[in-house]
Amino acid sequence: MIYRTDYHIHTTYSDGKEIPDAYINAALKNHLKEIGFSEHITLMPGTEDWGMDEKRLPEYVSYILNLRKKNPEVRIRLGIEIDYIPGKEKETEKIIGSFPFDYIIGSVHYLGDQTVDLGPGFYIGKDINEIYENYFNLVCEAASTGFFDIMGHPDLVRIHRYKPQDDITHLYSMMASAFEIYDVAFEVNTNGRNKPLHDFYPDKRYLNLFAEHGVAVCVNSDAHFPARVGQFFDEAYDLLKRAGYNEMAVFKDRERFMIPF
Ligand SMILES: [Zn+2]
Ligand SMILES: [Zn+2]
Repeated sequence: MIYRTDYHIHTTYSDGKEIPDAYINAALKNHLKEIGFSEHITLMPGTEDWGMDEKRLPEYVSYILNLRKKNPEVRIRLGIEIDYIPGKEKETEKIIGSFPFDYIIGSVHYLGDQTVDLGPGFYIGKDINEIYENYFNLVCEAASTGFFDIMGHPDLVRIHRYKPQDDITHLYSMMASAFEIYDVAFEVNTNGRNKPLHDFYPDKRYLNLFAEHGVAVCVNSDAHFPARVGQFFDEAYDLLKRAGYNEMAVFKDRERFMIPF
């Protein structure tokens, strides 16, 4: 039996559709051993529609810790998904150090002051090769900060199907060695299946590179409503096995443990 965990969940505390309690049943139905909540903290102005105001962090944290007490039948983990924004290191560090998180997901949504996932408009008229290079560089930079335990959807820039003409194997190699050097895990994020991309992040063709570098992995749904908890996980586990993986990362109190699968 695979020790199933899902560490990437959004609720009404950020841009998810239901309160945290509503995800517990979905976790049990999907035979999850652990479910972790990871609301968005963007550290950018004007993101109230999808990010959680930092001021709500104490309320969020105590809500999840209380939910944990009420539901001993599944292990509830406390996480957060923080945007990596160069120049906001102090704020990031303060948030991370102020609460008893089990893990921190580090994500790059922004290149400059725009998000890469909002719509295809971001890509139109731009050099796609350059966008990919910038995106991958920023994810590697994020990994190097030491703030994060899991790198979220590491090639989110694929979301709207704009593809570079150049071969980009070197970008995935660079990413895999950065994750190895800075000792961060990454996620196979299955929610890309519901996006124009219609595929998981990162690109399955390069999963073997991460395996060769010994980078720890977990499988996450990035669910924004309960029906998506644990979505497509069996497919993701199969892909990982075929890429050479035989263990998965789990987290508690920001410590990583490996569980065979
Ligand atoms: Zn994200
Ligand atoms: Zn997310």
